[in-house]
Amino acid sequence: MPNFTLAAYAANPQTSRGRKIYEDAPPGRSEFQRDRDRIIHSSAFRRLEYKTQVFVNHEGDLFRTRLTHSIEVAQIARSIARRLSLNEDLVEAISLAHDLGHTPFGHAGQDALNACMQNYGGFEHNLQSLRVVDVLEERYASFDGLNLCYETREGILKHCSLENAAQLGELGERFRNNQRPTLEAQIANLADEIAYNNHDVDDGLRSGLITLEQLASVRLFANHLEEVRKAYPDLAERRVVHETIRRMINTLVSDVIGQSEKNIQEQKIETVSDVRNAPSILAFSPEMLELNRELKTFLRKHLYRHYLVLRMSAKAHRIISELFQAFMADYRLLPPQFHRAAEMEHARAVADYVAGMTDRYAIREYRRLFAVEEN
Ligand code: MG
Repeated sequence: MPNFTLAAYAANPQTSRGRKIYEDAPPGRSEFQRDRDRIIHSSAFRRLEYKTQVFVNHEGDLFRTRLTHSIEVAQIARSIARRLSLNEDLVEAISLAHDLGHTPFGHAGQDALNACMQNYGGFEHNLQSLRVVDVLEERYASFDGLNLCYETREGILKHCSLENAAQLGELGERFRNNQRPTLEAQIANLADEIAYNNHDVDDGLRSGLITLEQLASVRLFANHLEEVRKAYPDLAERRVVHETIRRMINTLVSDVIGQSEKNIQEQKIETVSDVRNAPSILAFSPEMLELNRELKTFLRKHLYRHYLVLRMSAKAHRIISELFQAFMADYRLLPPQFHRAAEMEHARAVADYVAGMTDRYAIREYRRLFAVEEN
C-alpha cells in the first residue's frame, strides 16, 4: 500500500464501483495500481511525448510536452494525496491519463477540431480522454479500451456538458445531480493547474517570450523572487528562476493542503459519499486563489496571446482543418484500419484519427496529402 493508513474518506480500491467488464482482482496489486499500469502501457500515453503543451515539440528539447506535463501533474498530485492520507495510486492514474485525449498542437488543435466537428457532436479533449481509455485503445484480447475502474474514469472526465452527461450513463450522473468526484479526482484537477501555471512561467522565460521584468507585476512570482535574491544575491539567473518556481509550487501545494484540511473539518467529511455531496473540498485559500488568478491572467495576456504563439496556433488551425476536410471529402484517404469505423460514423472516425496524431505526425500527414512531391 502506498499510504500507511488511508483516511476514511479516501477512495478504496476494495469498494470500487468496478470495471465495465468484470475481471478478477489482480494478485499483488490494487485495482487502481492496475489502472495506472494500463495507462502507462497504452499507445496514447506514449504519443503524449510528441504533443504540444504550449510550445510545439520541435521548438526545443527542454520545453514541456504533454508527457512531461502529465508526469509533473502526477508528482504534485501524489504529494498532496500523501499529505491528506488519500489514495496515491488513484491520483497517479488519473493524473497520467488526464490529457490522453488531447489533439496535436495544444488548445489551438482542440479548438480547430471542435469547429470542424460542430455539426457532428463537437470535440472536447476531456471527453476524448475518456473515449481513449473506454474505446480507442486496442490492446486487450477480451475488451476494447483499457477497462478502467469507475473512479479512474470519473476522474478523467473533469467536466462535461449536461447534454453529454445524459449520454454517459452512470458516469454522467454526478453532473446531472450536481455532485463532486472523489478527493483523488479533485486533487488531480488542481495539480494540473499548479503544474501548468508554473511550468509555463519556466518555459515562457526560457523561450524569451516573457521576461522577469514583466513578471514583477505578478505578486506570487515577485514575492518569491525577492526572497531568493535576498538569500542568494550572486546566484546565476537560471537558478534564480528555478529556485523561485520551486518555492512557488511549494507555497501553492502547502496552501491547498491547509485549506483542504480545513474544508474537510468544516464540512464534517467522513466518507466518500460525504465528499460527493459536499462542495469542492480541494481548494486554494481565498488569498491564494486571488494570487493564482493574477498569475493566470498574466500568462494568458503575455504568453498564450504572444504573437509567436498565435502564429503557431494559426498554423495548427490550418493543418487540423484541412486534414479534417480532406478525410471528410473521401474517407478512403484514411489509413485502411480506419475505414470500417468511417463507414459507420465518418466524422467521428476522422476526429479520432486526427486527435490521435502527434504534432510531427500531423505535419507529416499534411505534407503527404497536400505536397505534390510527397507520397
Ligand atoms: Mg493538463
